[in-house]
Amino acid sequence: MSKTIQGIRGMNDALPIATKDAPLPSTAWLYFDGVVRDWLAAYGYNQIRTPIVESTALFVRGVGEHTDIVEKEMYAFEDSLNGEQLVLRPEGTAGCVRACIEHGLLYNQTQRLWYTGPMFRHERPQKGRYRQFHQVGVEAFGFETPDADAEMIVMLADLWQRLGLTDLALELNTLGDAAERAAHREALIAYLEQHADILDEDGKRRLYTNPLRVLDTKNPALQVMAEGAPKLADFLGEASRAHFDGVKAYLDSVGITYSINHRLVRGLDYYNRTVFEWTTTKLGAQATVAAGGRYDGLVEQLGGKPCPGVGFAIGIERLILLLEAEGVAMPADAPDAYLVHQGEAADRAAFALARQLRAAGLKVVLHAGGGSFKSQFKKADASGARFAVVIGDAEVEARTANLKRLVGEGGGEQITVPLAELAARIRA
Ligand code: ATP
Ligand code: MG
Repeated sequence: MSKTIQGIRGMNDALPIATKDAPLPSTAWLYFDGVVRDWLAAYGYNQIRTPIVESTALFVRGVGEHTDIVEKEMYAFEDSLNGEQLVLRPEGTAGCVRACIEHGLLYNQTQRLWYTGPMFRHERPQKGRYRQFHQVGVEAFGFETPDADAEMIVMLADLWQRLGLTDLALELNTLGDAAERAAHREALIAYLEQHADILDEDGKRRLYTNPLRVLDTKNPALQVMAEGAPKLADFLGEASRAHFDGVKAYLDSVGITYSINHRLVRGLDYYNRTVFEWTTTKLGAQATVAAGGRYDGLVEQLGGKPCPGVGFAIGIERLILLLEAEGVAMPADAPDAYLVHQGEAADRAAFALARQLRAAGLKVVLHAGGGSFKSQFKKADASGARFAVVIGDAEVEARTANLKRLVGEGGGEQITVPLAELAARIRA
């Protein structure tokens, strides 16, 4: 036998049932997808679907040259046929904005959009951190007032409720506007220069390129220094402060609690004003389940006419891990009926009956491959179906079927039902 070929490290399979190597079963994904669809529809968001491969330049310009993503996490490659510089997208906002500009979706109109799909980052794989992972992203364009920022946050609070999650806390910060950030940056560089001797390699590299990110350090030795750094909050002008107060007022008015985290800067360069993260205590270091904020400069940065934007992304793997950690029941989509049959006439009749029952809106598994009634019933039980429908040649003759309840109240009970009434009986 030849050697088997393995999947790629950090890129996971989702199987119908969880295993050690594939712990997030497809049933959990489907449950999540279903709740998310209803949730987005309730808020009037429309789906956008963009390609997984984009130009490298899109992220260099859109995410920022001096970010972790662009510096060291992108799957970048050259198209061997035409030499184009391409990447597997590391996030969804830049591609969404590119598509909106390209198709003229932002001229004199607002947009509320969402997308979902795989993202790719070359990180060290661990629980809650993968090289192919999935996001649900939500973006709203053309809204500059704080109600739009608040809608993003409130939507997520609503999703946690719909999913039955409780262990999530909201952190909030404001990054001000470009001029305020420039003034703060100057003060920050001066402060960091005074502490240059203790900066780690990342810190030294970022001192002049991205000093705000130095404060976002995960190095405990630097956190005390970061805590004492000049705060952007002290550099905010009237308009930025009023915007942030506006966001907080909306949250307060519906009882959403939050903590202000002055060091919350987010890993992408495009944010301004509001930034936020929802974190959990249940997933160790991979604590952030959803994150987002305002990015009023991004559309222009990518070549469009200026247009404000605000959005967030949810990490689906982390969310499913949290659903499991919190013991949320995720009902699997079990069949309504498993069709058991024996005999040549019964085999043909069952084949046709399965189609009729499905056309009547039922979920039906038709037994295939023959075997004794006993072995077929075993498979019926294992399928999780509510009923077994049993047909032998005698039932074909009488135009009936035996209906046996497999799960729930009255399990094991068996009755004979005319074929014409079967769908209604199963549904009742
Ligand atoms: P982190 O600080 O954990 O690296 P990030 O700031 O890089 O996160 P974003 O770019 O804001 O993450 O992405 C939004 C969300 O996507 C994150 O909050 C997280 O839930 C999820 N996410 C990001 N990177 C990964 C990954 N490598 N594996 C799984 N989920 C991820
Ligand atoms: Mg990251």
